[in-house]
Amino acid sequence: MNLDSRIPDGPIEQKWDNRKRDLKLVNPANKRKYNLIVVGTGLAGASAAASLGEMGYNVKSFCIQDSPRRAHSIAAQGGINAAKNYPNDGDSVWRLFYDTVKGGDYRSREANVHRLAQLSNNIIDQCVAQGVPFARDYGGLLANRSFGGAQVSRTFYARGQTGQQLLLGAYSSLSRQVSTGQVEMHSRFEMYDLVLVDGKARGIVGRNLVTGEIERHVGDAVILATGGYGAVFFLSTNAINSNVTAAWRCHKRGALFANPCYTQIHPTCIPVSGDHQSKLTLMSESLRNDGRVWVPKEKGDSRSPDQIPEEDRDYYLERRYPSFGNLVPRDVASRNAKQVCDEGRGVGPTGLSVYLDFTDAIKRLGENVIRERYGNLFEMYERITGENPYKVPMRIYPAVHYTMGGLWVDYDLMSNVPGLFVLGEANFSDHGANRLGASALMQGLCDGYFVIPYTIGDYLADQPEPIDISHPAFEQSEQQVREQIDKLLSINGKKTVRQYQRELGLLMWEYVGMARSESGLNKVLEEIPKLREDFWQNVAVPGQADQFNKNLEMAGRLADFFELGELMARDALNRSESCGGHFREESQTEDGEALRRDDEFSYVAAWEYNGDGEPGLHKEDLTFDNVKLTQRSYK
Ligand SMILES: Cc1cc2nc3c(=O)[nH]c(=O)nc-3n(C[C@H](O)[C@H](O)[C@H](O)COP(=O)(O)OP(=O)(O)OC[C@H]3O[C@@H](n4cnc5c(N)ncnc54)[C@H](O)[C@@H]3O)c2cc1C
Repeated sequence: MNLDSRIPDGPIEQKWDNRKRDLKLVNPANKRKYNLIVVGTGLAGASAAASLGEMGYNVKSFCIQDSPRRAHSIAAQGGINAAKNYPNDGDSVWRLFYDTVKGGDYRSREANVHRLAQLSNNIIDQCVAQGVPFARDYGGLLANRSFGGAQVSRTFYARGQTGQQLLLGAYSSLSRQVSTGQVEMHSRFEMYDLVLVDGKARGIVGRNLVTGEIERHVGDAVILATGGYGAVFFLSTNAINSNVTAAWRCHKRGALFANPCYTQIHPTCIPVSGDHQSKLTLMSESLRNDGRVWVPKEKGDSRSPDQIPEEDRDYYLERRYPSFGNLVPRDVASRNAKQVCDEGRGVGPTGLSVYLDFTDAIKRLGENVIRERYGNLFEMYERITGENPYKVPMRIYPAVHYTMGGLWVDYDLMSNVPGLFVLGEANFSDHGANRLGASALMQGLCDGYFVIPYTIGDYLADQPEPIDISHPAFEQSEQQVREQIDKLLSINGKKTVRQYQRELGLLMWEYVGMARSESGLNKVLEEIPKLREDFWQNVAVPGQADQFNKNLEMAGRLADFFELGELMARDALNRSESCGGHFREESQTEDGEALRRDDEFSYVAAWEYNGDGEPGLHKEDLTFDNVKLTQRSYK
């Protein structure tokens, strides 16, 4: 298979302009002849559907929630990056590009990342025009704060609710298009299959989650913006409804899945407190602007934090990484937290947490300033843990948070299946092996507002034969969807979907989590198929197909997570280097840092589905003409 990333010619600063110059256009009067399907209404999907509707295309928009504005993007807390350089601290498009490529441990495509940095400033303008209430400084300019992996302040924010405010902006644009009739909204609908006609994406089949009815929808292109797959670990900061089903079913129809093993473990989450939990809560990375991370110097020091004097504390990030201190990137902060806990210096009842302490910041700035910056996060922490973080240091521990892997796309964000475009967290494109904080919102909105509106026209301009939902490809797809539903309902076993999901999650966390080894990965590659087999024999899915049935929804998603989990382990096994969010125990420097092996692994691993056979590995070589590859150092 020829993996053509279609990177435009020319110097990196001009590639996007060159691509736009060469793209074919659809004349304004012809746009209304095209029907586009956009699956997902998070920041990527809502911005795409609103923009494409505004341009005059007929859009059908789908989501599983009861309202588009309840997509998982609403949970995003800390902020969104852009290279505006308002604080005048030396930022530029180049620096944002450089930090992102370096932060991703040199495993992303230079050209895509540079475009992202270039467009970052347009996103802020667009959102301000929509009325997104970004924080402002005393002079009225938009305020910025710092995030990990950067030495400038470039993160725009709306308290700890940035995702919610951005989504409300995108949602209001989307609602405008819904009211003009340009976008037809289908909420509480789950896509189960991609329909291909002559090898091109021509529609979807899915289930109305309220009535259980199976529906067919035809279009001239399908745009997938269905988010990430961190929920394969069961406990994660992702919304419970986050899943891989849409992307996985596209994979089964031929779309390549790229770098599935690249998972981001976020260092500042509220620690696991027992078996009762079904999800974990993030404490935004922005807190590391003012909070200091520490553990006791001595193992097993059980004194309460206020009884541990300065000289008995180890501010290990500040000690090991003096240039970046508490603002090292997430992968580095997470690994260090694991390391000090593994040494027996972790705190709290389980020993699996470290302190994030605001005492100094409160002394320096006053409680009111801290409350203004992080008030809602502090309140959330207190509600969950019963401890007041203005008085007692927060306790945090790493948790699964984001997935850099996803469906493979070219520079135009089209997958290898013609007519299937993939946006936002669902694609693999911009973050390499580790995403920097506040860059996911930037990418989702960049893809939806500023990339797809251009690139889709190039595809549609030569397109496509009219077809309708009576085409045999829809018939065949619907039959397969029904067969899977009937199979799940007929098993009548003894174990709940949740039990299996937890067991799979534990396997994934243990062997494909923060550190991976050859022996562990080989073991889990035996365990997952056994558990999956057992699931298909013993799962209990009560209820019927033709009604609201949450168990059926979750069972279908879990069936896909089993298959994805195996591919993640296989990808991790293949990549015997450490890079970013993928830490292979066999590949580390003398002082325990990730050791990349550029000579062997400077490629995107794009996997092809082969049914019951082994998945096929295709490699897209990564070339770096603008950034010099170095072993990352934040010291
Ligand atoms: C707690 C938390 C805080 C975060 N904070 C930040 C931050 O401060 N800054 C930052 O840059 N990033 C942050 N992130 C990451 C960021 O929020 C996500 O990466 C981003 O919002 C993903 O957007 P998306 O549009 O790609 O997908 P999502 O927002 O996940 O939306 C997916 C959409 O797809 C739909 N969907 C899924 N499957 C199907 C299906 N089969 N059929 C139909 N519809 C389907 C869903 O209904 C939903 O509408 C945070 C993440 C978490 C978990």
